[in-house]
Amino acid sequence: MNGNLVEGAKRVIADLRELAAMTSDENGAQRVAWTPVWQKARDWFAAKAKEAGAEVTVDVAGNTWAKIPGNGPEAVAIGSHLDCVPNGGWLDGALGAVVALEVLRRYGKGTAPRHTLYAVNWADEEGARFGRSLIGSSAASGTLDIAEIIHRVDNLGVKLTDALADHGVKVDELLRAHEQLKEKNIKAFLELHIEQGPVLENMKKDVACVYGITGCERHYITFKGQAAHAGSFPTLMRQDAFLAAAQASLAFKQIALKYDAVCTVGKVSVKPDVVTIVPEECVISLDQRSIDPEALAKMHAEAQAVAAKAASDQGVSVSWEKIWAIAPTIFDERLTKLCQEAVKEESGEATTVYSGPLHDAAEMAKIVPTVMMFAMSERGLSHCKQENTADEALETAIRAFLRLADKVVA
Ligand SMILES: [Zn+2]
Repeated sequence: MNGNLVEGAKRVIADLRELAAMTSDENGAQRVAWTPVWQKARDWFAAKAKEAGAEVTVDVAGNTWAKIPGNGPEAVAIGSHLDCVPNGGWLDGALGAVVALEVLRRYGKGTAPRHTLYAVNWADEEGARFGRSLIGSSAASGTLDIAEIIHRVDNLGVKLTDALADHGVKVDELLRAHEQLKEKNIKAFLELHIEQGPVLENMKKDVACVYGITGCERHYITFKGQAAHAGSFPTLMRQDAFLAAAQASLAFKQIALKYDAVCTVGKVSVKPDVVTIVPEECVISLDQRSIDPEALAKMHAEAQAVAAKAASDQGVSVSWEKIWAIAPTIFDERLTKLCQEAVKEESGEATTVYSGPLHDAAEMAKIVPTVMMFAMSERGLSHCKQENTADEALETAIRAFLRLADKVVA
């Protein structure tokens, strides 16, 4: 193993700044997947990995793999994503990919580690251009539904198939990435990421072990009433679809508080959407998340009950349509323990949290033992140019992650 943790952490931050300078403009980072700026970031990653002594390949899904052979038959993969949303921040994804380069440097030019080491840059985590997140990692985990993405186009009318082909990726061959992954014999996946929320800052913690990722129930709820004249219809005789949606939405907040979870009504549409007409129809979205599968099921059942009550109170009908659901992910117990140890060694306490957002680690966790670590996010901000973590906090998190990598790789 080469180098010390303090210098390593400083090198990672210097690399992150170098990458940000290359791939940002006055509005933030512009490394949107399948664009020239993203390609520049990928090339930079590959060059840095080669400098560290790694052998670089790209799989059929566009994921970049940098390999340092180990002594044993098993492998450990470490990484995250270099793509970002338009006008994104300098750390989301980049932190986890760039710290993996430092792990390569720790093992690249000395005695071979116990396990083969891979640094991976997953392709298109954000789904910013074509609306499907986790393309590279879900192709590798084998869960990607090709039929669901093959006809997608971006805002400018560019076909997904063409954009990927420009980067050497054939959509109908994406799932071969799963076979390519199996050949690597990976027995652990580690990902460092910024928190993208305010919890750690609120706890005054720089770094935490992440033991899992919340599950999600996502639905559209349609309330149907009767359109009527805003002047002539008495309040108590109305069938106001918006009021039912509003009443239900307030009740969803109570459900979130009861289960220490989150419920979000992010979309609202009212018909006929005219100031002088009592709303006839109101469609809202409901996104419910919890780390506890039983709680998530109860939250969904209670949401249906309070929506039915709101509909009946307002004299309207209600119907549900499922958009998407995913069960909570609980990470590997052994790796979680090692991660807690590493966090404690560096920060004095084994802070442990769960993740609300999805990450590439959620896909990897389906097929290999996985764990994540979070660095705190200032003001919880992410997906914007204000995204930041102060150097000192970032260094603590990076050192803790390098310790975790040593525990698993060496
Ligand atoms: Zn990310």
